[in-house]
Amino acid sequence: MRIHHLSCGSFCPHGRRLINGDGGLLERASVVCHCLVVETDDGLVLVDTGFGMEDARNPRQLGAAFRLLMDPRPEAATTALKQIEALGFEAGDVKHIVATHLDLDHAGGLPDFPEAEVHVFAPELAAALHPTLRARTRYIGGAHWKHSPRWVEHDTGGDEWFGFESVRILPGLDAEVLLVPLVGHSRGHTGVAVKNGDGWLLHCGDAYFNRKEVTTPPSCPAVMRFFQAVMAIDGAARRSNQERLRELVRTHGDEVTTFCAHDPHQLELARARAAEAAAA
Ligand SMILES: [Zn+2]
Repeated sequence: MRIHHLSCGSFCPHGRRLINGDGGLLERASVVCHCLVVETDDGLVLVDTGFGMEDARNPRQLGAAFRLLMDPRPEAATTALKQIEALGFEAGDVKHIVATHLDLDHAGGLPDFPEAEVHVFAPELAAALHPTLRARTRYIGGAHWKHSPRWVEHDTGGDEWFGFESVRILPGLDAEVLLVPLVGHSRGHTGVAVKNGDGWLLHCGDAYFNRKEVTTPPSCPAVMRFFQAVMAIDGAARRSNQERLRELVRTHGDEVTTFCAHDPHQLELARARAAEAAAA
């Protein structure tokens, strides 16, 4: 079973030191949209989509304030669709999309895979389909799900996974894929765990934004710290889940490779490890 690590879109705002924690203050930051493509016996599973073709065609739909603040760069060549085609597959091969959450930078590619089932933690779907006034700018359903996605809602009540609640989805596949709820950033935000050989990958979405947030002691560049606090729908839950992730990294870091959606260093590291495993 092969797993590919893609970046499906990027952000390049000024202020690299305050966003990435390295480089200069005036330099442009590097913020990726880390997505997974899992090859299974029954087609592809895509974990998060990043930005999609419609975002590349019409970046204005992402909203003026978001564009001004984060300088998103949705481009056709970096969409999941184009990168999956470059791997030799086609859109119809993507049978399942698993969303950490439905923010515009994680679900923009949904219209590129209209036949795929879209797996979401139930509270996130409810929040996205009936957004509060405050949440309306983060979910742009009119643009991203006017094709009527084939939603598959999942609730908790599943198994315990390294001390976290989890629910196994896609039981018919040879790939083991679990939702591991990590709410706080959004109402139904979830991590996605994928069995990878003897160990696990845990895609943490936006449960944290910088790799040093899950080290002990934690740290985070100022702008990312501010942005997370502003975006969080439940700050206490977000902080408590980060503490649980730190504990996971401390105690099971050898079994679980943890990464978030937007840290370019974690993407590079994951790609290097995947290349090493493929060559072995
Ligand atoms: Zn995000």
